[in-house]
Amino acid sequence: MSFSTLGLHTDLLAILDTLGYQTPTPIQQAAIPEVLAGHDVMAGAQTGTGKTAAFALPLIQRHLVRETSEKAIRVLVLTPTRELAQQVHKSFVKYSRGLSLNSVVAYGGASINPQIDALNEGCDVLVATPGRLLELAIKELIDLSTVQTLVLDEADRMLDMGFIVDIERIIKRLPETRQTLFFSATFNDEVFVLSKAILKQPKLIEVAERNATAAKIEQRFYEVDSTRKAGLVAYLIGSKNWQQVLIFTRTKQAVDELAKELGKDGISAAAVHGDKSQGARDRGLEAFKTGQVRALVATDVAARGLDIQQLQYVINYELPYNAEDYIHRIGRTGRAGQAGLAVSLVSNKEKYLLEDVEKLTGEHFILQWMEGFEPNPMAQEEASSTKSKPSKKTLRAKALGQSGSKKAKAGKPRRR
Ligand code: AMP
Repeated sequence: MSFSTLGLHTDLLAILDTLGYQTPTPIQQAAIPEVLAGHDVMAGAQTGTGKTAAFALPLIQRHLVRETSEKAIRVLVLTPTRELAQQVHKSFVKYSRGLSLNSVVAYGGASINPQIDALNEGCDVLVATPGRLLELAIKELIDLSTVQTLVLDEADRMLDMGFIVDIERIIKRLPETRQTLFFSATFNDEVFVLSKAILKQPKLIEVAERNATAAKIEQRFYEVDSTRKAGLVAYLIGSKNWQQVLIFTRTKQAVDELAKELGKDGISAAAVHGDKSQGARDRGLEAFKTGQVRALVATDVAARGLDIQQLQYVINYELPYNAEDYIHRIGRTGRAGQAGLAVSLVSNKEKYLLEDVEKLTGEHFILQWMEGFEPNPMAQEEASSTKSKPSKKTLRAKALGQSGSKKAKAGKPRRR
């Protein structure tokens, strides 16, 4: 299938051609005609599936022909984080190059004045995080009465981050008659309640199995003591010569500590988390994207929306407390169908989090041991005597005499 069969304008087809997009991804095939037809859409789409173009392309087309010469916000895209807002805004700019369409991005944690200036220059598409949008609306710096399409991107994440009240307040300011597009990587009861409240006879689109992780991503799980994790990360990156690795931790403190540790091991790393200024975060991302640093260590929130072409490796230094974050994290690799590897380091205390991931994804994972980084049985016993019995997976791995997969055994680990 080609983009021309989806009803897209020749101007857009020419832009896609210059970008080298030849085949629409499944979410694009399903969503573009529905959005063009003006329907509400509820789409289950993971990150990396091409979902931004799935809504941006048809919306650019719908709003290519202006009804008035006056600029007015016709498309409003809400995203959970500033990084995703920037990413979506950049996509609108990329997909509408040479067309008379203005996209503006607004998010908190950055000075509001340049954003107001950009809005005053004329805005057709506004991409914003809920808090900053509400601030602009309450100060009457924007008029939302002209919005024709509302997009909620990563709606599940917005709910996780507690934006529900902000979203409800924003929706009250929008016209009743509008198109609403709802994208979510995962679905739970809360997501359904919100979708029911704001969508009218939506077309349901689900291109991947619900709550499934993206195909083509190999997932490996290493059981390792938490005190040895930094060493194992350095070993994996160094011995396998990985050049661009995104590493997730649960806390800001762990981000800083791990980035420092990697530096000591000769692996350049940038640290990105919510306590860093926007400028520092942008510089970190840029250094990572351009290959000036090999690793980017980040918390979940900071890494949201980060889009790097052909990112091959993701390491979960710690498993997330929220299993849905696991899907988002590993979705950073395997972008647009590329192959990827997601490695998770699991300490004894984190095994219950692995079980949550298994429940959510419906997959079963075998915990491996990396030679030289096998968990200390004394520490194990201590932890399990205060908690629960060793899990079936550990017993299975031990019964198999597993000290890692064939690949995992290759090479000599550095002992610390
Ligand atoms: P997204 O899921 O929107 O974050 O997109 C993931 C990545 O895939 C982005 O880098 C896009 O530029 C890229 N992409 C989106 N659609 C296509 C396509 N049809 N062909 C090739 N790359 C694409």
